[in-house]
Amino acid sequence: MRRFHQRGRVVSSFALIAVSGTMLASGASQDAGIRTTRRTLRLGETAVDVVISERPGARHLFCNLHDDENTSVEAGLAALRRSGGRLVELRHGGEREVSFRLSGEAFTVDPNRIFTTEGARKTLAKLSRPSAEAERAVDRFARELLSVYTIDRADVVIALHNNSDEHYSALSYAKGAVFASDAADVFIKDGSDPDDFFFVTERPVFDALRRRGYNVVLQDNDKVTDDGSLSVHCGRLGVRYINVEAQNGHREQQEAMLTALLDLLEDLGPARPR
Ligand SMILES: [Zn+2]
Repeated sequence: MRRFHQRGRVVSSFALIAVSGTMLASGASQDAGIRTTRRTLRLGETAVDVVISERPGARHLFCNLHDDENTSVEAGLAALRRSGGRLVELRHGGEREVSFRLSGEAFTVDPNRIFTTEGARKTLAKLSRPSAEAERAVDRFARELLSVYTIDRADVVIALHNNSDEHYSALSYAKGAVFASDAADVFIKDGSDPDDFFFVTERPVFDALRRRGYNVVLQDNDKVTDDGSLSVHCGRLGVRYINVEAQNGHREQQEAMLTALLDLLEDLGPARPR
């Protein structure tokens, strides 16, 4: 999700097509009450597709940013069928990062590092090179993507991510670990797989997930490093953000986590007004 999990095996889009229905020539499809539309955003001179799946029901916003994390999209579509809401998926060639061209040059960014100016600057410097022009292009793209998300109309942002075995996990936030200072609290259940965990921005959500025995990390919204990720953006806005992170291929586990989360959100009721 947020950091340097390795690029996972790229799964073909067969499974996704199988569950989301045949795409029609118009770019819209209809399956089990899910309406799918496609939009194209520009990043520099490069087109990036955004696929939006919608179903009447709850005002949940499901977000997939990394195009190589297909297990999470499959699990997310199953959850969308249960709860309703919107699932917004970035399509950019099946890779974790997004590459684009600008004024004859190639740049690469991590799409989950673009939601703050500082994050955009850092991801360009890390994956390409610093460039004020490219920063502006990334910033414009992030604003366009946020206008597709319309987070202010959602009651919760549910981020969908996958990681690879034994790299980035809930353990990355434990005392003394690499991201410990970003977390206000961490719960890892004895005997569980720490690759499968929730990452949240609100204490009541953390407590509810811990009570149910799920691995969960609470972001420290005041001290978290500004890396431009969606969790940082939502933390600043005071938006209820919940990342459902599972190991690549843990489709059943991720679906079960999402099912438990949907029940829990009903029990918790709406986030405090913002
Ligand atoms: Zn991810």
